[in-house]
Amino acid sequence: MNTKSRNKAIFNEYSCTRCGECFHLCPELQLPLKVAKEEINNLIEGHESKYILSHCTTCFSCNLYCPINCKPYQLILERWNELYKRRGAPPIYRFVCPTMKDNIWQMLRVFMTSEELSWINTWKAQTPKGTILLISNYLHLLPFVFDNSKLLRYFTPIDALDHWEGGGYLYQGGYLDVVKHIAEKCRRDFKKWKVERVVPALDAVHWMLTNVHPFEMGVTHDCEVQNFHELLLTKINDGEIPIKKKLNLKVTIHDNCYSKAGGGKYWDSPRLLLNHSSCKIVEMKHNKANSLCCGFGAGASWKHPINIVFDIMATSKKKFQEAEATGADAMMTYCGGCLYLLWASREIFGSKIDIYHIVEIVRMSMGEVLNYPEQHIKRAWDLITIINYHLIMSLFRKPFWIDKISLEGKVLESGRYLGLRILRTFFDVPIVRILYTKIFQIMLPKMTTPREF
Ligand code: SF4
Ligand code: SF4
Repeated sequence: MNTKSRNKAIFNEYSCTRCGECFHLCPELQLPLKVAKEEINNLIEGHESKYILSHCTTCFSCNLYCPINCKPYQLILERWNELYKRRGAPPIYRFVCPTMKDNIWQMLRVFMTSEELSWINTWKAQTPKGTILLISNYLHLLPFVFDNSKLLRYFTPIDALDHWEGGGYLYQGGYLDVVKHIAEKCRRDFKKWKVERVVPALDAVHWMLTNVHPFEMGVTHDCEVQNFHELLLTKINDGEIPIKKKLNLKVTIHDNCYSKAGGGKYWDSPRLLLNHSSCKIVEMKHNKANSLCCGFGAGASWKHPINIVFDIMATSKKKFQEAEATGADAMMTYCGGCLYLLWASREIFGSKIDIYHIVEIVRMSMGEVLNYPEQHIKRAWDLITIINYHLIMSLFRKPFWIDKISLEGKVLESGRYLGLRILRTFFDVPIVRILYTKIFQIMLPKMTTPREF
């Protein structure tokens, strides 16, 4: 692929005073100041990092803590990019690569209902026109979040798995050179589609298209890109989307990593949408700029592939402890990626707190009826099955490099996956679920990457 080089000078090395505040205040690591100073030095000088590159949950907060806006987060990404070039991606990461065999979207087709598959096929087959809603790779895993909602009438929903969420989750793992190619693919597709307005369902993708692509990857899109939650809010305020029902739920909010990227501009709309639904908001100890990761981001900073899933779940457990401490009835997330991870985690840790996507909250307040929580619980166990399958397979696989971005209009059909189906059948047996979750929880502290400062 012939591409111009991307902007590699996002971290402002010359202004950085190496004060260490960024990593000292880090909500995940809270490194002692002396260690934090050593770590920023190590990263700048290209020396071995003791903690950050192996424990960072890629949450974006350190950018907000730097008093002179040096963007230390981008320094971490550059160092991970170098590591990726040397050691490749961990074997289990194949499952989030839509162009690789046995990816999560391909495997999940085995467990999706015919109704879910028909929604997805419709979203794939649509001719992009007018205002398109990019459904997003992660909401594709939970298509019932949108279902056949009246909300979709305002858009042409498009499902483009090989947009990789605009490269969002690869960017967070430091796969920066790959993201550059994804940005170029998005630009080619938008031009080909001749769309006027793109509305990504995820703030992460909005940030990628409006900021990372133009300023870091040198790829500018010609179409207007609008924020989904702001658009919903405008339509509710204008009376176009009618709110018919007061939900009267006590809700705590999970602010996702990308919500911090815009310096705060993504935090208010979901809260205002909750207000419209007559929900009472109770904030977690860590929220907005200091919000803790759902867990997914902990997979970015791997040292040994075998620890990745356990690091993710250990991080997620902390999120649940904070959410439960608020006494809320429900935790609301406005990111589809966090949603599936949080549901899998809820099942493993046996949490009783409800979890909703903001779209589900809006739909309920519009008077739409959800099949809740049955669909989420089923899907959580579908995904737990796939992740376990990959965990086992990854023991026999080597790290890899991503060499193909585009599906070139093809669909990776689902295989038979006999072993996967058998595993899933076991997880339908209540005693197996109980035993699995108990064993997982016993193994968790032993299998998590140790943290000693
Ligand atoms: S990036 Fe900012 S907060 Fe971090 S060490 Fe440099 S100046 Fe200090
Ligand atoms: S991105 Fe988040 S977890 Fe990583 S060092 Fe910065 S503040 Fe800490």
